[in-house]
Amino acid sequence: MPADLDSKKASTTTPSADHAQHHAEGDQEMVIDTSKMSDDKRQAMEVAESARESQWTKASFAQQLFMGTFDPSSFATFPTQSPEDKRIGDEYVAKVDAFLRTNLDPEEVDASRTIPKHVIDGLFEMGVFAMKVPKQYGGLGFSQVNYNRVMMMIASFCGSTAVLISAHQSIGVPQPLKLFGTEAQKKAYFPRFRKDAISAFALTEPSVGSDPSKMTTTAIKTPDGKHFLVNGDKLWCTNGPIADILVVMCKTDPKIVNGKERTQITALIVEKSMPGIEVIHRCDFMGIRAIQNGLLRFNNVKVPVENVLWGEGKGLKLALTTLNTGRLTLPAACTGMAKQCLSICRRWGNERVQWGLPIGQHEAGREKLAFISSTTLAMEAVSWLTSHWADQHDVDIRIEAAMAKLFCSEMAWKIVDMTMQMRGGRGYEKASSLKARGEHPYPVERMMRDCRINMIIEGTSEIMRLFLAREAMDPHLKLAADILKAQNPVGVKMKAGAKLASFYSGWYLNQWVNSSLWSQHDEMGPLASHFQYAHSTAHRLARTIFHYMGLYRDKLERKQVLLGHLMEIGTELFAMAATCSYAKSLVNANPGDATPTTLADMFCRDAARRIEDHFRKISNNDDKLMNQVAKQVLAGDMKWLEQGISWVGPKD
Ligand SMILES: Cc1cc2nc3c(=O)[nH]c(=O)nc-3n(C[C@H](O)[C@H](O)[C@H](O)COP(=O)(O)OP(=O)(O)OC[C@H]3O[C@@H](n4cnc5c(N)ncnc54)[C@H](O)[C@@H]3O)c2cc1C
Repeated sequence: MPADLDSKKASTTTPSADHAQHHAEGDQEMVIDTSKMSDDKRQAMEVAESARESQWTKASFAQQLFMGTFDPSSFATFPTQSPEDKRIGDEYVAKVDAFLRTNLDPEEVDASRTIPKHVIDGLFEMGVFAMKVPKQYGGLGFSQVNYNRVMMMIASFCGSTAVLISAHQSIGVPQPLKLFGTEAQKKAYFPRFRKDAISAFALTEPSVGSDPSKMTTTAIKTPDGKHFLVNGDKLWCTNGPIADILVVMCKTDPKIVNGKERTQITALIVEKSMPGIEVIHRCDFMGIRAIQNGLLRFNNVKVPVENVLWGEGKGLKLALTTLNTGRLTLPAACTGMAKQCLSICRRWGNERVQWGLPIGQHEAGREKLAFISSTTLAMEAVSWLTSHWADQHDVDIRIEAAMAKLFCSEMAWKIVDMTMQMRGGRGYEKASSLKARGEHPYPVERMMRDCRINMIIEGTSEIMRLFLAREAMDPHLKLAADILKAQNPVGVKMKAGAKLASFYSGWYLNQWVNSSLWSQHDEMGPLASHFQYAHSTAHRLARTIFHYMGLYRDKLERKQVLLGHLMEIGTELFAMAATCSYAKSLVNANPGDATPTTLADMFCRDAARRIEDHFRKISNNDDKLMNQVAKQVLAGDMKWLEQGISWVGPKD
């Protein structure tokens, strides 16, 4: 394997105190040819590409997976907390749990759309808003694992409270400040999060959702160069209406790159006390109803230049890097919900008798219990593995974090849906109504409303798949960059072609004939065959990606459904490997209990069936017809089908 492709040797970095210094200054070279794209698409692509993290010191397991390198050493020993870190986590989780149970009624929170002030004050007193703040600045300095353990517990109890805390420090000011802040900024802001300051992260705008290139909020430097004047609207800013300190992404003066203007996005620390910030509207949602989320307007807000985080033009990279680690909270939160569902279904499955049997003993009920329990184990494996890797500070976790977010949010939704089905009519009934008529108020109805947002925030599932696809293709794109660039002279292309042919002849052969043919993975004990399947399927996945790259070339990025299947396969393989390793570690810790192996076996069988289904759909689908139908729907050709209803929207 050529050195430039051996990702183990690739130079990388991760979130750490000196994270910012490790990143390449200026613009990285574009490996995607944007010359034939429309202006809009080119701009979106260039903004996204220049914001990608690309400098790392340790390889990502998942990126190697997409290249057909399955590294079993990543799973040889499932990481565990040190006894001291575990003790800190155990005690703190118990303390916060006890406080919330005594002081907070999640149903009342949901109904009143309010988290009581005394609860927020109590959480501040315990340092919950400074869990991620380093100790030297007065915070609790928690590991990612302990932080996520607390978040898992809170999310299992009250979604709104979990989102308040997560928006504050998974993506709000503490996280980017830790990664990119100057010493002066850290000294100025960190201690306030231990006292009483709530923070928020403001990226989204009415016309800026998944694609930030069209950002309209501007930050224009004053003539004396000492301040920025911020103007614009930020939408759906969680904690925005009550936040004291916000990190706001703004468009600053464009830069000229290769003779063309390139949008510059800059992150600013903005204080609510700065004149000109208006809360235009507090948004109301289906779930997590007590979050304070709003449309904020910035009218000539004067922000000192010292409040730039990291550097001018680095705001989008900062936002994406913040999300790479920040995103890890969401899988833990989803796992908390899944565990709550499991507990409800176990009890209800035994208690509710219909047709002469407890409903958990009818086979349809058993199917749900098996799925919920085994998938919860997998979600836990994925959540803890990625959290531990984040704590190691030297592993590139972008891809695994996105996989964890995609996998856990999609699975949590399936689990909560199954739980509602298992509870029947009671699942659909509000907990307050159940309580009023004397039944136990299991909050499945609220949990379902709270759970749905996880597939949308911090990157929608579709965007996660595209993000994964971009990262999975990166080694191939880098290799083929000189050929793909339309403007390159024939000589350069021919030289690049020869290099490419030499690399791919060996690489491709290796995707057929490799160690998966003889590795038995006995180290995984009773789960060896599943681990072996993951190993050999990684090669099959790499081959398949390669075949479709050859078939569609630069048009592959438009084949989103195909890419989606490929990325789902990669994600399931990662989950399988993590689950085998996690189950093995649980059994090692408690040899008398084989249930983790049973659950992992169940999960891996399900996952393998889903993987085979994805492979089938790649080659056997109706994509052409599907694209045509969608085109016709958008063109209005099928409007006749919309007749007979009482239409609720505006006139065409
Ligand atoms: C409750 C809540 C809390 C939030 N909190 C915050 C916050 O604190 N800070 C903040 O900045 N933002 C926040 N957001 C915004 C959130 O991050 C966005 O909703 C999310 O990024 C998606 O953007 P959008 O809703 O504009 O959807 P769009 O980008 O308009 O997407 C709509 C649909 O199209 C799909 N889509 C978009 N682009 C593509 C593509 N290229 N290919 C295929 N499909 C595509 C999407 O997956 C989605 O299904 C919050 C939103 C909500 C609802």
